[in-house]
Amino acid sequence: MPLRVVICGAGVAGSVLAGALAGRRDVELTVIERAADAGQLDAGTALNVGPNGMQALASLSPALAASVRALAFDWARWQVSLTDGTALLDFPLSDISSCAGIRIRWASLYQALREPIGAFVRYGTTITGVQGGHAIDGAGARAPLAIDIEGPSGRARMEGIDLLVAAEGRYSPLREKLCGPVPVEHFGIAISRLLVRDTSGGLIDDYAQWFNGPHRLLAYRVPPDHVYIVSTFPLAPGEPIEPGMKTAAAIAARYRPAGRPIAPACAWLLDAMAGHVDAIHWARMQQGPVCYRGAGGRLLVIGDAAHPLVPTLGQGATQALEDGVAAAELACAMLQSGSVDVPALTARIEAARTTRATFAQQLSWQASDTLLDGSDPVRDTLRKGEPAFRKSLKALFSGSHLGSVAS
Ligand SMILES: Cc1cc2nc3c(=O)[nH]c(=O)nc-3n(C[C@H](O)[C@H](O)[C@H](O)COP(=O)(O)OP(=O)(O)OC[C@H]3O[C@@H](n4cnc5c(N)ncnc54)[C@H](O)[C@@H]3O)c2cc1C
Repeated sequence: MPLRVVICGAGVAGSVLAGALAGRRDVELTVIERAADAGQLDAGTALNVGPNGMQALASLSPALAASVRALAFDWARWQVSLTDGTALLDFPLSDISSCAGIRIRWASLYQALREPIGAFVRYGTTITGVQGGHAIDGAGARAPLAIDIEGPSGRARMEGIDLLVAAEGRYSPLREKLCGPVPVEHFGIAISRLLVRDTSGGLIDDYAQWFNGPHRLLAYRVPPDHVYIVSTFPLAPGEPIEPGMKTAAAIAARYRPAGRPIAPACAWLLDAMAGHVDAIHWARMQQGPVCYRGAGGRLLVIGDAAHPLVPTLGQGATQALEDGVAAAELACAMLQSGSVDVPALTARIEAARTTRATFAQQLSWQASDTLLDGSDPVRDTLRKGEPAFRKSLKALFSGSHLGSVAS
């Protein structure tokens, strides 16, 4: 009997795992995806994926990594300045990693990762219920799971699921239902994101940040001819982002240096935000505890669902790639051995990933110190050029997805 696997969410982590299981004779694979189609042009804005995510993907599938890179620009530098143009930090990522990261539109990343799994994905479908797996220590805890789904052809029940994968992103209903409520920790930072056409005339290219006090602009160019703009500012934990904080005037006031001319790149970014105020996405930085498995080991949790983290080091999708690759490698190795034990498999994935994902979460949070109220962005940015932080960043950007943190 083939192993019955259902992956909920054809995002970053889910698609990578699905790609490795698709077409295997010993696996019956179904992917449930809420989005209406593979292109999902409404999918977010853009993102930078760390070298560690691309290194992991290339180790699983050089062809898939190449198809992602074909839709991306390299992320090769780390540059930090003040909004008046004073340079603070500028180093090549090749100092701390063996390959470049990437800058890519979100929809392009999804398109590349979903292309190999098209025949296995039920688009426009969501899970409405799950049965089994609650009595984790009781009899039957290891029994297969069942889910209810709703999609274009109506409602249905899928039974006898040997391995259920929660890969639905940050607000995972499956994790919540089978592992309990996920406490959310707010960090006191508001964040905005925007994708616009590049009319900067070359002012914006590789990954760069500009500070005015703890207020930070971040931007880079992505294919085909767009610029991704992120702005952050301190906001007390739990406080809402009021409408008055989102106006063009409020945005400009945060980033214009007092008594000094603004750098041309920052002036262009503020103009671009002012021209697209209604298209800006607003959120608050938050994270939650790491959790890789539940339901007596029949549920595997991967990606944001397993470890919601702050985006400061570009590790959200990056860690999702690492998860997808680690789960794929360990699952294929167990299938290959001919002796399949699903709870043992999810325990192995949990053991390989928990320390690594926790490290990514913690370093992402430590690196956010410059964004907090009362921070000194000059002192704290310069500290990121010192050996201790660079060593940690190297461990993140060059470390193995299977958990041995490189030093
Ligand atoms: C605007 C924005 C910018 C970001 N920038 C960066 C960045 O620069 N670098 C970085 O590394 N990370 C970034 N992130 C975070 C990154 O996008 C996520 O960490 C990453 O996508 C997580 O991958 P995932 O596979 O866990 O989930 P996702 O990629 O979110 O995929 C989840 C999938 O599940 C589907 N789904 C959700 N609920 C259901 C359901 N109930 N039923 C069926 N399907 C469902 C969704 O449609 C989606 O396809 C950004 C996030 C946002 C919102």
